[in-house]
Amino acid sequence: MLLGGCNSSTQTGGGGGSGGGGRPVVTNPSKSGPQQKTITHRLSQLLTALACDPDCSSFLARNGMDPISTLKQIIDNGIYGHADISMNGDPYSTGATNGGAPEMAIVVNNQGAFFNRATPDGRTFSVGPRGYPGRSAKAQGFILLHELGHSTGVLRPDAGIRAAGESNDTDIQNHCKKTLDAIK
Ligand SMILES: [Zn+2]
Repeated sequence: MLLGGCNSSTQTGGGGGSGGGGRPVVTNPSKSGPQQKTITHRLSQLLTALACDPDCSSFLARNGMDPISTLKQIIDNGIYGHADISMNGDPYSTGATNGGAPEMAIVVNNQGAFFNRATPDGRTFSVGPRGYPGRSAKAQGFILLHELGHSTGVLRPDAGIRAAGESNDTDIQNHCKKTLDAIK
């Protein structure tokens, strides 16, 4: 495999997955533009970092799906993109979802914490338990890692369920420190 050397060393409004208390409304899906380039870059960083983080990769593999090969398939097959994603009428609360648009295993919200520091009316985004600022490298890595955890079936369904989403975020933070530290 690729992957250079491994170095040692990643909050609210994280992911937002599928199933559960709500269903995200996904509109204007796209696999192009500057947003796509940003997602591609972060996914690639994540792949490298994950290969150096046995704690995170074994956590994400708990349900029997290898997260590294899952992520590699997502990247190689280009099954990711970005869209406008609304949850219960709120266009900002979802960072990303794992599905809801054709041929996308990961869909990032154009209007959420991945791409923005704040909502248009000035509410600041914060991602995960450590409060990574919206649009930061770590917030982007955290959001993608969270969706990967849904893709491998390890995280709880949390769409529209705040408590489940926070528990999932805490699990990611606790198990994937090294991966998150590597993303900058
Ligand atoms: Zn989620």
